[in-house]
Amino acid sequence: MKTFKVNGYFKDDKSNFKNYIICELDCVPEGLKEEDIFFFGMNENTIKEMVNESDKHNNLLDFIITSYEIYKYKYICKYCGSDEIRKDAFAAWNEELQKFELSTIFDAKYCVKCEGETKTKVQYLKK
Ligand SMILES: [Zn+2]
Repeated sequence: MKTFKVNGYFKDDKSNFKNYIICELDCVPEGLKEEDIFFFGMNENTIKEMVNESDKHNNLLDFIITSYEIYKYKYICKYCGSDEIRKDAFAAWNEELQKFELSTIFDAKYCVKCEGETKTKVQYLKK
């Protein structure tokens, strides 16, 4: 699931907003709180269209998005906070490319610092 930070303004009083958070799906992503979310259920294509729309007042929403970026996050270790998280994977031979390629990534996560299996949490990156 992707999360976006958007800039824009409200149609009624033209007041600007900055770094408002929009979620692609109708649920609160791990690492964020519901009260932090400005809008649910808008995907990147819709946001792109809103940014590029020539007649910006054509949509049914009460706000206009002028720019956006993907709100990036990383996984950190639940125990020590390190972001050196690794996963096991299989590589399979690709005849066409004549090299091994990543084929399966396993669920279990390992922390390099803790030197063992770990649980992770999501941390959104501040700019
Ligand atoms: Zn750790």
